[in-house]
Amino acid sequence: MRLFNCPVCSNLLYFENVTCNQCGHELGFVPEILKIVAFKPQEAAVFTVAGSDNRYKKCRNYYEHNVCNWLVPEFDEEEYCKACRLNDTIPNLELEGNRILWHTMEKEKRRLIYSALQLNLPLMSKDENEQDGLSFSFLSDSPAQFSEREKVLTGHSQGHITINLAEADPAERERMRDQMAEPYRTILGHFRHESGHYYWDRLIANSDYLQACRNVFGDDTENYGDALQSHYTQGPAENWQEQFVSSYASSHAWEDWAETWAHYLHIVDTLDTAWQFNLQAKPRAVSSEDYETDVNFNPYAQRDFSRIVAHWIPLTFALNSLNRSMGHNHAYPFVLSPVVIAKLEFVHKVIKQQEIVA
Ligand SMILES: [Zn+2]
Ligand SMILES: [Zn+2]
Ligand SMILES: [Zn+2]
Repeated sequence: MRLFNCPVCSNLLYFENVTCNQCGHELGFVPEILKIVAFKPQEAAVFTVAGSDNRYKKCRNYYEHNVCNWLVPEFDEEEYCKACRLNDTIPNLELEGNRILWHTMEKEKRRLIYSALQLNLPLMSKDENEQDGLSFSFLSDSPAQFSEREKVLTGHSQGHITINLAEADPAERERMRDQMAEPYRTILGHFRHESGHYYWDRLIANSDYLQACRNVFGDDTENYGDALQSHYTQGPAENWQEQFVSSYASSHAWEDWAETWAHYLHIVDTLDTAWQFNLQAKPRAVSSEDYETDVNFNPYAQRDFSRIVAHWIPLTFALNSLNRSMGHNHAYPFVLSPVVIAKLEFVHKVIKQQEIVA
């Protein structure tokens, strides 16, 4: 994630900031230019970009519900920003606590949309294109029903991503993580995974990549329901780590693709943050370039995948060690085998190729 600073006082900001805590100006993110801009009080609800004539208004979810901090060009007919206009069903806001859970969801969703914009991935709403568009629904069921199989299923179907709102509750999410014996479960991880299914439909299904994708990820025509059923009843193969990034990835070729896709986004976006901080690591304990990293390139624009991987592995070792020093679990509790790296490279190639075509 890019690092932003306040256009008025230069204070460093987080992507989610709505006001600058140094100068007090109200802020908004403009997805068209990937920048945070400031609101000047005398300009009556119009945000301006320093050094530009462009003017913006708040997304409706910003001024109405305070769950968004993105902006829309001033004279755009759209009331919602590029991220919010993808919403199909939002939580019932009459129910106490739902607005907070929804806010948490939207924060993570915007990080996914940021990555899609950075990678120039096709992105359109169902209003723009019913068939190929993307939409999100945030649905809830009673906590008693919250289990992986008998509830609102988090998943993807024909461009429609459904997320169980309970995933925004840390206690519920941790309970599910434990029940599923997963090393990592986050909302952003869900968004990245489900977007993988969407982009499989967009970039692979009817493309020249389909056969190559099958060569790398296996046969996606295998019965999906049966495959998941056998994954849940029999568990993964003993040596799944050699072939798959997670045990769930071993359940079906589509899940393998979606898991690998999610990891590609984890890697590129975290490297982006490291690049923005000019992060370098050179462990004192060893003298080997294999453990050193100096992220001095924009990973979203990087064409050479070997550079991405060469910097990612040492970065995760440093990141995990920092996390452990704070008593947290590993930030990235995964091992990338050579087979998994080859799968990630395939995802990278598909994304870079569609940039050229687009
Ligand atoms: Zn400021
Ligand atoms: Zn919005
Ligand atoms: Zn999936």
